[in-house]
Amino acid sequence: MQSDENSDFMDEQVTQKSQNYEEEDKCHCTKGCSTHSCSCFKFGSGCNSSCGCSTSCQNMFNHLDYFFGENTKCTANPCFSKWLDKNITSTNGFEMIDRDKLRRRIMKCFKYSGISEDDEDFEEWMKEWKTIKEDKKLVHMQQLFQMLLANDTTEYYYSFCENNIYENDCHWHCRTCQKCMSWREWHCTQCNKCTYGASLPCERCGKY
Ligand SMILES: [Zn+2]
Ligand SMILES: [Zn+2]
Ligand SMILES: [Zn+2]
Ligand SMILES: [Zn+2]
Ligand SMILES: [Zn+2]
Repeated sequence: MQSDENSDFMDEQVTQKSQNYEEEDKCHCTKGCSTHSCSCFKFGSGCNSSCGCSTSCQNMFNHLDYFFGENTKCTANPCFSKWLDKNITSTNGFEMIDRDKLRRRIMKCFKYSGISEDDEDFEEWMKEWKTIKEDKKLVHMQQLFQMLLANDTTEYYYSFCENNIYENDCHWHCRTCQKCMSWREWHCTQCNKCTYGASLPCERCGKY
């Protein structure tokens, strides 16, 4: 096991940056669910039986098993949600995304991010990938997607905005600005834009 030597240097102030969806975990839509007015859709999550939508549901995130595998309750992280939202044009349209191409895109960042050497889980994943049999590839690929494209599974996420692998402690994707931000930036609800300086007031309106 690696020691958590970094924890001493981490500030408490970064923890409030992303809203957590679990508290609510359902939407109250009566139909559709294909837009951001649906809270499930907005948070990259599929609908479930306690949502209001039932058979009218067209939430594309119901089909996340295409990326994450069957029987996972993973939700798409904010950056992946935005990317899917931008790239998918119809419901059930995940199939139009080439998973292997996505895998290659992510793995291109392995070298310069150092992740496959610095992190046990990714090192392990990589070792297995190198000798993997053809019929096991998909499941292993889905494991990688879980690690980097789902919420809260590892300390890292893949940023489509920057084409890089980031640590959750250092970067986050703002759902309103729709961009990856550094931990030093925070979203000012009054200006509805992100502003620089974790402990500074908003650079535009002065709000804390
Ligand atoms: Zn909904
Ligand atoms: Zn829902
Ligand atoms: Zn729904
Ligand atoms: Zn992003
Ligand atoms: Zn923002």
